[in-house]
Amino acid sequence: MNKIKKYYLYIISGILFFGIVYNTPNSNKKEEKNMNKTIKTDKEWKDCLTPEEYKILREKGTEMAFTGKYYKHKEEGVYICAGCGDNLFSSKTKYDSGTGWPSFWEPISGDKIKEEIDKSLPFVRTEILCNNCGGHLGHVFNDGPNPTGLRYCINSVSLDFKAEEDK
Ligand SMILES: [Zn+2]
Repeated sequence: MNKIKKYYLYIISGILFFGIVYNTPNSNKKEEKNMNKTIKTDKEWKDCLTPEEYKILREKGTEMAFTGKYYKHKEEGVYICAGCGDNLFSSKTKYDSGTGWPSFWEPISGDKIKEEIDKSLPFVRTEILCNNCGGHLGHVFNDGPNPTGLRYCINSVSLDFKAEEDK
């Protein structure tokens, strides 16, 4: 009888021990890292984006040059991500690069943009993604104007526009 009691005691203390180990704060690390980010499944993106937006933002497509709604756009305001609405570029840094895509020499702040190496063409390019939702925006090149010398070449489809509010 005593032996059986001891046996149960071992099992119970075993359960308690593992309970403590698995409840250590480590398990929250991943959530913290993704805090405030827009994370959706592929199906959720398909449901909330137009087919054209899905193709470019989620499948890294490129719109035809000179066809986008913003390459000639000159209003003052902020260009936001078409996927999640985060602020990406100010009209103050937009310029006419002659490429047929909206071009900026600087993002609204560095942490809005994520860069990745893109080897899909024979020459390596730097892909630009929305840091909040991971949507594909375009590419950045070193042939831009002063003061940065950078050209952020962005698909109109990846952007929406918020006009500057009337003062
Ligand atoms: Zn986004």
